[in-house]
Amino acid sequence: MAKTIIVSNRLPVKISQEDGKFQYKPSEGGLATGLGSIYKEGDNIWIGWPGMPVSKSEHQKEIAKNLKKESMKPVFLTASEIEEFYEGFSNETLWPNFHYFNQYIVFDDDMWKAYQKVNKKFAKAIEEVLEPEDTIWIHDYQLLLLPQLLRQSAPKASIGFFLHIPFPSYESFRLLPWRRELLNGMLGADFLGFHTYDDMRHFLSSVNRLAGLGNSNGQINVDNRKVMVDALPMGIDYDKYAQSAASPETLAREVRYRTSVGDQRLILSIDRLDYSKGIPQRLKAFELFLEENEEYRGKVSLLMVVVPSRDSVGKYKELKEEVDLLVGRINGKHARLNWTPIHYFYRSFPLHALSAFYRMADVALVTPMRDGMNLVCKEFIASKLDKKGVLILSEMAGASKELSDAILINPNDMHQLVAALKRALTMPVKKQIAAMTTMQRSLQRYNIHHWVNLFMERLNYIKNEQKALETQIVDQDIRTEIKTNYKNAKERLIFLDYDGTLVGFFSDPNDSKPDKELKTILKKLSDDPKNRVVVISGRGRETLAEWLKDYNIEIIAEHGVWLKERGKDFRTITNLNDKWKEAIQKVLDGYVDRTPGSFIEKKDYSLVWHYRKVETGLGEARTRELTSHLKYITIDRNLKVLEGNKVVEIKNSEIDKGRAASVWLNNYPSDFVMACGDDWTDEDTFKAMPGSAYSIKVGSTSSAARYRVADHQEIRDILKSLIN
Ligand code: UDP
Repeated sequence: MAKTIIVSNRLPVKISQEDGKFQYKPSEGGLATGLGSIYKEGDNIWIGWPGMPVSKSEHQKEIAKNLKKESMKPVFLTASEIEEFYEGFSNETLWPNFHYFNQYIVFDDDMWKAYQKVNKKFAKAIEEVLEPEDTIWIHDYQLLLLPQLLRQSAPKASIGFFLHIPFPSYESFRLLPWRRELLNGMLGADFLGFHTYDDMRHFLSSVNRLAGLGNSNGQINVDNRKVMVDALPMGIDYDKYAQSAASPETLAREVRYRTSVGDQRLILSIDRLDYSKGIPQRLKAFELFLEENEEYRGKVSLLMVVVPSRDSVGKYKELKEEVDLLVGRINGKHARLNWTPIHYFYRSFPLHALSAFYRMADVALVTPMRDGMNLVCKEFIASKLDKKGVLILSEMAGASKELSDAILINPNDMHQLVAALKRALTMPVKKQIAAMTTMQRSLQRYNIHHWVNLFMERLNYIKNEQKALETQIVDQDIRTEIKTNYKNAKERLIFLDYDGTLVGFFSDPNDSKPDKELKTILKKLSDDPKNRVVVISGRGRETLAEWLKDYNIEIIAEHGVWLKERGKDFRTITNLNDKWKEAIQKVLDGYVDRTPGSFIEKKDYSLVWHYRKVETGLGEARTRELTSHLKYITIDRNLKVLEGNKVVEIKNSEIDKGRAASVWLNNYPSDFVMACGDDWTDEDTFKAMPGSAYSIKVGSTSSAARYRVADHQEIRDILKSLIN
């Protein structure tokens, strides 16, 4: 049976060695709690690095055996892999780049090689337990190459990926020499989740520019696979923090801590040591606050917890020294015998201590320069059982998108920060309660369990979509089947799109007139009295009538505007009007004026804005603007706006190829029906076909067709096999 595999750099367990024996301590992180409901079930498993170098093979075996009982499987990394893959490429290349600290990036080919090697090592460990239909959920920036590696070995697997840190704008991401490989690695996933909409659109923009793939509502077509991208902010285990805040141990600690600090008002700051957290800036702002607001001296203290992290990396060592110096300087300058401005702890605390801090704090000061989400601010809110307290939050933290009732600040604006502190310390209790209530409600609802369920639901959704759009390659067996059914049929109906299906693409559209081979095919096919051959195209009726005049062929032109049955004149499907064209053309002209390289194509009952020669990105941006502009002016005109491959088409709502094809399907019941097409306009034709029809898509993108072939030559070969 299919199982679920969770993969992250670190396993949700801390292993240590005491007196030669290994000790296992489950980690308390939010992710471990949230995913606990998944990986502990049935055959499911969590794969990752156990957090310490283990070189002896008997030790590795022992650890693997013990972890197996807990539904975990270790990937052991050597000391040099930890240095080059983890501390190196992950934390000294990707981390600064993704957090916009580009001056800190280390560009090192050996570290990149180690990153590739370790991603392959993870892939191998997964492949040892992987079955074809498994679901795999990969976490974070250390494993960006993994989705694609697994896609190769398990093409049918459901692969989800979540990035826990920001995804940078293209302008930052493009700096990495390995940007394409990293992006391709990620695109192996079926569903990619980011904390915020900004991260998601940055990713989509890089995909567009580097892989040349556009998207429609966050869905990208990657090698005939629909990949979905969405913003899915991670929540916390709300009840755990609320319950911990009410526990006797927390209350006892609060009493103890209060006795030590006195009745000071408290500003709380908790972070891992990291330059992205803005710790020095925060200290300087606090100092400025004390200098500008003398009345608060002796009355308010900053309780600052810095959790040691990555202190073997040079930049982190420097940061630690800077923080130590700043704290020393501020305390040295302002402290009194009965008052310490900053209570500074460089260590980590257990949950109940943190809960006591959260309860005691009047203000939480969370001011990262950049943060994917930031959980501390959410935990602070969940711990405020009396709803009193104020959150000051950096707008550079992902959490700020959800917590708009906090005091939002730009962490680079020292004066704004000082003003925010003053505002927070003087905020009326009623206002505090109102803001806290709203934020608590939101965090309660969008908690970690909700996040996990939603991720799985989205991954499932896109996988089902893919299955619905699955097209089978036309192999020899299917060719034989088509031929047999064709031969046995008494009445046959054959719909053929023209450009891209019967002929290839030419830079000059007039070059696509039928060539000798196509002429022979069309002649023989349409001369057979059992056949009704309909060319169904977006081209204008005059061109089609001229090119096809020598054959007994019927025509659907302009995507279904004009219909021409055998021996009859062109007619429209209903009474269409084209009075709207003048007004819409004026709008489109405005976009052509502002968008070099774009142009308008005029058809009898539709207008098309083409942007294939426009600067990448600009065309897409204009399309968004244009479609929302058109939404309002087309609403009462019975028009529809369709986005295609580098085109926006405006046409009467009644028109599409499927509707036109239905006229033939109704009027000429047949025991052999076939439809061939290559682009999005042909999807309507495919959808209109009865289940038994041979619908064949040219190209590799997802389609409602049952079958697909690589190019127009294959369509010609199939048709030739029928007539010979
Ligand atoms: N934390 C902890 N002990 C401490 C200080 C912090 O366990 O002494 C936890 C805190 O509760 C939070 C996490 O560390 O869950 C920090 O997560 P956040 O997203 O705020 O920052 P990150 O370190 O992931 O960048």
